[in-house]
Amino acid sequence: MKLISGIQPSGNITLGNYLGAIKNFVKLQDNPDVTDFLIFVADLHAITVPQDKQALRKNIRSLVATYLACGLNPEKVKIFIQSEVPAHPQLGWILQCNGYIGELERMTQYKDKKERQTQGVSVGLLTYPSLMAADILLYDADAVPVGQDQKQHLELTRTLAERFNNKYGDTFVVPEPFIPEAGAKIMSLAEPTKKMSKSDPNPKGYIALLDDINVIKKKIKSAITDSDGKIAYDPVNKPGVANLLTIMSCCSGSSISDLVEKYKDSNYANFKEDVANAVVAEIEPIQAKYNEIINSDYLDKVLDEGRDYAIYFSNRKIQKVYNKVGLGRKTK
Ligand code: ATP
Ligand code: MG
Repeated sequence: MKLISGIQPSGNITLGNYLGAIKNFVKLQDNPDVTDFLIFVADLHAITVPQDKQALRKNIRSLVATYLACGLNPEKVKIFIQSEVPAHPQLGWILQCNGYIGELERMTQYKDKKERQTQGVSVGLLTYPSLMAADILLYDADAVPVGQDQKQHLELTRTLAERFNNKYGDTFVVPEPFIPEAGAKIMSLAEPTKKMSKSDPNPKGYIALLDDINVIKKKIKSAITDSDGKIAYDPVNKPGVANLLTIMSCCSGSSISDLVEKYKDSNYANFKEDVANAVVAEIEPIQAKYNEIINSDYLDKVLDEGRDYAIYFSNRKIQKVYNKVGLGRKTK
């Protein structure tokens, strides 16, 4: 089974990215059914909204160090930077020409992010899912480990792959989403009906993996809950408490029902303190590892290897696609 996934260097990696995506990658790299696993830094996706040049460069490197600090092993997973592999935007363009504006306008991410733009909405924000489809289809990935919010984009990837295969003959593997059972949608601590996002302008909404430990504790302490005072798992009526239970369950390994039982007579302050301790226990070793590797040459070695591997396979695929579409001169 071949897997691929990526994260945008569009801000500080959050607990949502970790629990919904990276933690799952780390588990999957040891799955004997996984024969190939590619993880990339989606920097071309990040520029669909305005980015500061210096911050972007810093976030790209920081994301690679975060992948490694969380436990991704370059002997099992190829790690590369999307913009260093030209076939991604090349296939992205072809898929844009096979996607329909109406399909793209229906995407929830586009609708949400569009509202936040103050200097115009880039065309790239609309066509983002066709580049994402290219990221996946270039490598014949069977499955894509992602959080819940990316399910809709995966469905569009499937549609684009099937449409292309029908029009030009069998070319792409039609991939499946692979969404974790727990932690697939961590909610904002400030607005628990919205998903936690690294591009949230309000830093109180997210916990960044690299936040100072005291800041993490403070953010959990001030997480929005409700006035009911009871610890119960009810995502509709008590989204804040349900989110904290999910976070604690993912970090501690205890089931949500065991936690509900344990804290049924507890008050919110005590509960939050334990949630904070569970989160800190998970994040502290990651931070230590991150600080060891962020400035090392090792990062570049990993990225060079990943880039060469990705270029080799994606070039073969894009050539095949160009031939099928009838572009350029026929190559063998
Ligand atoms: P942005 O706000 O810039 O879109 P993001 O936090 O949504 O950032 P992405 O780079 O878009 O992060 O997504 C990276 C991965 O993290 C994807 O697999 C996505 O599904 C997952 N993910 C993002 N937010 C959450 C969340 N709140 N809970 C669980 N998984 C998440
Ligand atoms: Mg996102």
